[in-house]
Amino acid sequence: MADADRAVLALDIGGTKLAVAVVTTDGRTHGWLVEPTRREEGPDVIIARLFDMGQRAIVRAGLGPVSAVGISCGGPLDATTGVLKSPLHLPGWSDVAIVDLAEAEYGVPAVLENDATAAALGEHRYGAARGASTALYLTVSTGIGGGAIINNMLHRGAAGNGGEFGHIMVRPGGRLCLCGRYGCLEAYASGSSIAHRARAALADSAGGSSLGALAVVKAEDVAAAAKNGDALASKLWNDTVGLLAIAVTDLVNTFEPNIVILGGGVTRSGALLIEPLRAAVLRDAMPPAARAVRIELAGLGDEVCVIGAAALAFDRIGAGVNA
Ligand SMILES: [Zn+2]
Repeated sequence: MADADRAVLALDIGGTKLAVAVVTTDGRTHGWLVEPTRREEGPDVIIARLFDMGQRAIVRAGLGPVSAVGISCGGPLDATTGVLKSPLHLPGWSDVAIVDLAEAEYGVPAVLENDATAAALGEHRYGAARGASTALYLTVSTGIGGGAIINNMLHRGAAGNGGEFGHIMVRPGGRLCLCGRYGCLEAYASGSSIAHRARAALADSAGGSSLGALAVVKAEDVAAAAKNGDALASKLWNDTVGLLAIAVTDLVNTFEPNIVILGGGVTRSGALLIEPLRAAVLRDAMPPAARAVRIELAGLGDEVCVIGAAALAFDRIGAGVNA
């Protein structure tokens, strides 16, 4: 089979959903499937379900056998050994040898990468960061992850978990983060943190917010209410964007990237997020860095982690050149 015809299977293990697809070297997905993670079921059941989804995706794609498997997941993980150490978004998962398990399941080489690192590679090869030599990626979803391409190379760091942009401190002494520190960006601007903050604000308020009528408030409800002019939601949203802007401005000053890309579930709010964020970063960053950078939403949308994991799988088998 020629390289251009090769297809790999990509598996993304998120805190809220599992996403799988067969991906071809042109970056297109085939047989795409998404199902809820159901974290409470624990690693054995979830991995069996994930692998079954992979098998179904291969059948649905109709492209024949895959050449490799790429897996993306939140950290901490060890990409070199292919082991999930103890992902913050998957309580109870400890030292899961996911690459060995995937190789046994599918009979082809497998590779594991931090989801946001994979997404950075996916955007660089196939999405909004094509042609950018320095690109940063932030995923704002259940948690907040990051990935960096520096001088056209994926940056992994000394222990393979570099780019944890969600744990940039934006409020010293602030909310407790899952990592154990106080005041991390993730403790404010992740989907789950936005929802927690909204519930706390509602409990402290005298009423009057449209969010008060909801049984469970989620981040997307906050975004929708803010868009409709709800005062409590608007304040919460503006605070969130302001804290994101602090972190992104620091990143822009530090790396002077060509582009900063934001993806993940919270960014489905679209212009409501990216426009005030872009304005704040371009206003506050050092002028040369501000002039050089673009602040954009992910070009690959919800498929970004899957496509990034596939890009790593292509690299693993030496088929990593654009089709
Ligand atoms: Zn943290």
